[in-house]
Amino acid sequence: PNSKAGDGKPRLLLMGQRRSGKSSISGVVFHKLPPAETLYIETTIRVKKESMHSFMDFQIWDFPGHLDYFDPAFDVDKIFDEIGALIWVIDAQDEYLDAINRLNATILNLQNSYPNINIEVFVHKVDGLSEDYKMDTFRDIIQRVQDELSDAGYENAPVSFYQTSIYDHSIFEAFSKVIQKLIPQLPTLESLLNSLCANCRIEKAYLFDVLSKIYIATDTSPTDIGSYEICSDYIDVVVDIGEIYGWERPNENGESESEIEETGGTDCESLITMERKGNNYLYLKEINKYLALVCLMGDDSPAEKKALIDYNVGVFQKALSQVFPFSNGTNATTT
Ligand code: GDP
Repeated sequence: PNSKAGDGKPRLLLMGQRRSGKSSISGVVFHKLPPAETLYIETTIRVKKESMHSFMDFQIWDFPGHLDYFDPAFDVDKIFDEIGALIWVIDAQDEYLDAINRLNATILNLQNSYPNINIEVFVHKVDGLSEDYKMDTFRDIIQRVQDELSDAGYENAPVSFYQTSIYDHSIFEAFSKVIQKLIPQLPTLESLLNSLCANCRIEKAYLFDVLSKIYIATDTSPTDIGSYEICSDYIDVVVDIGEIYGWERPNENGESESEIEETGGTDCESLITMERKGNNYLYLKEINKYLALVCLMGDDSPAEKKALIDYNVGVFQKALSQVFPFSNGTNATTT
């Protein structure tokens, strides 16, 4: 119910005070910017709409003091009708009381007109904090938000909190959780991935948004961050190969899409690879122009099993295209 955009893509809006880290998050997650280089990027100025080759649609809003986004001059409906989640970035290394006040004012404002929007609070830049201080800060922020909202008579507000940093995988993990809430077909996806894993003795399977390396679903076996890292690194290897050779994949009209300003996700021929990595095997298959399936298997799954996996992945892909509108318009379905 939360993804109302006409093209069916989940929409995200990133908000927060200046210098809270919005441009950096966008750079690292959607533009493969090395985290250290965010020191030199320009901070967000007002509104930035990103056009990119991704499963999701994404906008960044700065929050300069003079910009009142509930000003009647803004077409609030146009903005909030379309989005599924509002991500609010709070700099945990800075004074955050003002940020919390603004966040609460926003939540209370949105409550009546747009009760379905998920509010996702990224308590950000936690890499610079000691373990104790990090937890205290996190709890303090949650407490203040919840107390103020319930003082204002708003109980059970749809607000979730995450600790994030661009210097580790936490920002990808948080984005993944935010996105998964916006996918009504998630339980179906998970059970499809579960049976894929069971049929092929796969340890872990992720359905990735290739550009951002956010996973939109995984099987329901316990997730450890290690397997996420291995699988997401594998995407980098494969996508880089695509970029090196500059493969272009025609769109539905047979034209290349190079006139659209894109930020990555170089199109390749539909790709299937399987490789040994340490004690594991990795399997990757492009599902469509946005999504790739990456599977991690133990050493006991020899490469000869690839035919079995190919077959089951084919079954998975077919089922996916039936339950999942996003997987349409793909390489596989165009002629
Ligand atoms: P914006 O104004 O909200 O777009 O903020 P920027 O993206 O320009 O970030 C402001 C500063 O915060 C930059 O110097 C970034 O390098 C820094 N920054 C962003 N994210 C992190 C993070 O996760 N950890 C740390 N330590 N610094 C960060």
